[in-house]
This record gives sequence, C-alpha cells and structure tokens, in this order.
Amino acid sequence: MVNWQRGVMRVMNIANHAVTVTSIVDLTPRYRRIRFSAPELAQQLDVFPTAWLRLWVPNPERGEQHVSQRGYTFVGVDADAGTFDLEFVLHETRGPAGDWAKQAVVGDSVEAALTPAKIALPEGTRELILAGDVTALPAINSWIADVGEGVSARVFIEDGHDDRDQLPAERRPGDTWDWVTPTDTRGEALADALRANVSQSARQFAWAAGEKTLVKHVRHVFKDHLGLLRGQRFSQFYWIEGHSPS
Ligand SMILES: Cc1cc2nc3c(=O)[nH]c(=O)nc-3n(C[C@H](O)[C@H](O)[C@H](O)COP(=O)(O)OP(=O)(O)OC[C@H]3O[C@@H](n4cnc5c(N)ncnc54)[C@H](O)[C@@H]3O)c2cc1C
Repeated sequence: MVNWQRGVMRVMNIANHAVTVTSIVDLTPRYRRIRFSAPELAQQLDVFPTAWLRLWVPNPERGEQHVSQRGYTFVGVDADAGTFDLEFVLHETRGPAGDWAKQAVVGDSVEAALTPAKIALPEGTRELILAGDVTALPAINSWIADVGEGVSARVFIEDGHDDRDQLPAERRPGDTWDWVTPTDTRGEALADALRANVSQSARQFAWAAGEKTLVKHVRHVFKDHLGLLRGQRFSQFYWIEGHSPS
C-alpha cells in the first residue's frame, strides 16, 4: 500500500530523523518509557509544553513495507546527550505503535518527524487546569515542569488501574492531582470531577487531551461550566476508541 502520509510530509518539507532505542523502563505493566538517541533531532529541538513528534512505526497489517505515523510527547529532552524519552501507554487493543513499543529492544531504530505547534499560556495566567487520560500524562507533566511558581496546576486524569499512583507525576507544593475512576462512558466521570472541584476564576487556562469522547465531555465543562473563551482553553483528540488510522 502506498504510504501517502509520507508523501504529503515530503511535499511539506518535513524531515524524518532516525531515532534509536537506548533504554527501556516499565514504570507500570501498562506504561513504558523508552529513551531514544537522536543527536541531530535533540539539538535542534525547541522544547515547549506538550511538544510532540510523529513516530513512524511498521504496520504490517496495512502492507509489508507500510509504516504508520502516531503522535507521542517529548519527555526529558537532553540536547547535550542527544537523547529524549517517549512514554507509551501499552494498551491491550492491538495497534502498530503500541505493538512496536511492547516489542522494542535496545538498538531498534525507527524514524520520527517533528510537529512544531506551540501553545502559549496567556500572559498573567494564575491557574492551569489540566485534564485527560493517561496518554495526556507526558504533556501534563511537561506543562507543570514549564510553568513558574506563580501558576498553580489542577490535574484531573481519568484512569481506573490500581497502579495509577506509580505513574510519573510532576508534583509541586500547591498543585492538586485527582485520579478519576471511569464510568462506562469515557470522560463522564472526568467531567463530573471537574464540575465538582473547579469553579470559575480570573486568569484560568484549561488544557485537555486524550480519547475523543473523553475530550468532548471535558470541552463542555471548559466552555459551559468554566465559561472559558477560545484563548483560555485548548483541547485535542489524541486517539479514537475503536479506530486505527492508516
Ligand atoms: C499530539 C499527540 C501526543 C500524544 N502523546 C502520547 C504519549 O506521549 N503517550 C501515549 O501513550 N500516547 C500518546 N498519544 C496517543 C497515541 O498516539 C495514540 O494512542 C495512538 O492511537 C496509538 O497508536 P497505536 O498504533 O498503538 O494504536 P492505533 O492503531 O491508533 O489504534 C488501534 C486500537 O487501539 C485503540 N487505542 C489506541 N490508543 C489507545 C490507548 N491509549 N488506550 C486504549 N486503546 C487505545 C484504538 O482505539 C484502536 O481500537 C498522543 C497523540 C497525539 C496526537
């Protein structure tokens, strides 16, 4: 099958970079941190909260040579060492990126492309509301690592696993972290938790990412309950339940 996505990116002049696995750490049985060496890529990176890349992973179900792109968030970029980490949710339903991460060994090499889409926190923000599922955790941590002491963070993550406390969390005094156990409908419990615990205040900014239905629920809270206008909120679908892109 023709890899049209690679063609589009070539036309847009988006370069691919080889990235090589140098270490693998399982933080929980479902959450794996992989360190990559990519000196050229790491040195040219403008690191900002939520910065992510497109990883090209083999997708044999779509064809022998087919590679598919999937988004992952930069963690712990070290320009001097020429390395960065990606944190993978090892989800049960098969998918090329999850499968690749489950089988990865040190020395494996794939390609990655940069996606510079910077989100800026409005000047004077005092409260940052961060919501999502575990795929959003690397981005949530990147926000907290970046904002100064004058901004307090309220984190809400929907996940029902017993070991969720072992997931990496950028803790600072004054911030709050709430783990929300899901109901049958993604995002419903998360939206309820936000409604119950967060109220409108001046200088708020809200960010959310994760599964599509979950993000839709949260977006309603940002707009209707918190009354946030366009420049005061940002949300993004990271993946869609039951859908595997080409
Ligand atoms: C900007 C951006 C940043 C992202 N950052 C990260 C990150 O840092 N870490 C991370 O783990 N993910 C991240 N994601 C999400 C990740 O790209 C998706 O989860 C992706 O769909 C995984 O690809 P796959 O090939 O494993 O599965 P796919 O081929 O996309 O899907 C196969 C099946 O698995 C299901 N599925 C996909 N993801 C999940 C999941 N997380 N849990 C349960 N079922 C799932 C799908 O619904 C489908 O049924 C990010 C996405 C974007 C757009």
